[in-house]
Amino acid sequence: MLSAGTKPELIIRHILENLDISYRKNVNELVGTPDIVIDELQLIIFVHGCYFHGHSCASEYQQKNEEVAAREALIFKNLKKDGWRIQILWECQIRCDETNVARRLKSLVSQLKKDR
Ligand SMILES: [Zn+2]
Repeated sequence: MLSAGTKPELIIRHILENLDISYRKNVNELVGTPDIVIDELQLIIFVHGCYFHGHSCASEYQQKNEEVAAREALIFKNLKKDGWRIQILWECQIRCDETNVARRLKSLVSQLKKDR
């Protein structure tokens, strides 16, 4: 089945393409099937839906899904152990301030390139 990718994810991919960064998406050989993986920078980006992941942007979301949070903590731990850097981007931030997210990603990418 074709996995369409949510709109915030498409926005992020578009930003990365503008920055001329190559990435893989929905990488199922890594734990947690990260949304976006940038191998050259050892960077993983998760685009989180606010409702499912219980973002603090709305109080009724927060109490949701401790199970999801616990599973996720384990996933992050494993990925970090393997040397990956993890960046979480929230759906609401992408939706309401795409420019700011693009700016943050750009500076993160140039920082990581410098550190390499
Ligand atoms: Zn949110």
